[in-house]
Amino acid sequence: MSDLVVVRKEGLYCVPGQFYIDPWRPVAHAVITHAHADHARTGHGHYLAAAPGEGILRARLGPIMLDALDYGQEVTHNGVTISFHPAGHVLGSAQVRMAYRGEVWVASGDYKVEADGTCAPFEPVRCDTFITESTFGMPIYRWQAQAEIFADIDAWWRANAEQGRASVLFCYSFGKAQRILHGIDASIGPIICHGAAEPLNTVYRDAGVRLPPTLKVSEVTDKSLFHRALVIAPPSAAGTPWIKRFGDYSDAFASGWMQVRGARRRRSVDRGFVLSDHADWPGLMQAIKASEAQRVIVTHGQIPTMVRWLQQNGLDAGAFETEYGGDDQHEDVPAATVPLAAPSTESSTESSTTASATPAATTDA
Ligand SMILES: [Zn+2]
Ligand SMILES: [Zn+2]
Repeated sequence: MSDLVVVRKEGLYCVPGQFYIDPWRPVAHAVITHAHADHARTGHGHYLAAAPGEGILRARLGPIMLDALDYGQEVTHNGVTISFHPAGHVLGSAQVRMAYRGEVWVASGDYKVEADGTCAPFEPVRCDTFITESTFGMPIYRWQAQAEIFADIDAWWRANAEQGRASVLFCYSFGKAQRILHGIDASIGPIICHGAAEPLNTVYRDAGVRLPPTLKVSEVTDKSLFHRALVIAPPSAAGTPWIKRFGDYSDAFASGWMQVRGARRRRSVDRGFVLSDHADWPGLMQAIKASEAQRVIVTHGQIPTMVRWLQQNGLDAGAFETEYGGDDQHEDVPAATVPLAAPSTESSTESSTTASATPAATTDA
């Protein structure tokens, strides 16, 4: 039987279904795994996505033709039965299951196997062929339990507050920011969120995710609050007047890349917290095993390492070249400034960020 999914210049293409999965060029029918900018782009004729991601897709992409399915709900498109299953990555993230004439393929999008309380936990889906991401697909990537990471963040924040210093924590605005808000001890002090994260916080709260109260900087009338505050800001805010107002602050960066030697220094921050929305090496292996797939196709990340390891373990493994970014490439611009229908701008953004982040991480690792 010929392959159910192939790569075309527009993106991953389901041949009999005649639709694309997370296409990077405008297409008629796009099935979207999640709302990170490298997976959900503007300009498609019609979108299909998991219902819990609907609010974020609409906030980021503006007016689009979107149909949403609950997790597990099936729809048939040109004979291919499509359903979405939780990927545990960010709110609304999904693996796409495609069944056609008895054969099942699953495209993972981005995923994380550790449940975090801000989105539906990852659910293994049995399939014949599993298309997996590989952002952290090297054996060196092994995450600490998130409770320990949040305890470290709390201790850093508490120590700064005791010394009368703000704690500026840089992280991506969609997913990571909400996960941090959900995980930290909000009794330590006030929490101030940059304007890039706040609209996304609202979408999470509307979806029923418990987040502590947050302040916009314009809402802080008593500036002495800054001395005990945790400030959540996107990396793009570093060095701006917005950040400088916090005076003598301590800063930190939260990302899976913080496990890589030199990454904290390159960001020139005081602390690095290794917190990722992607599966680590054991997580990737666990998900692949649980899928029971005999064939695995590896996308964005550490493709050669993963393919070699899977082949050595008796699986039929290959790769798809995609234009998805990794953990560091997810855009952190507020919804209002997302460019509309500008594929050329998006691909140039993509290549410039790829050049700065992934190769550095790879060579250092
Ligand atoms: Zn993502
Ligand atoms: Zn991705």
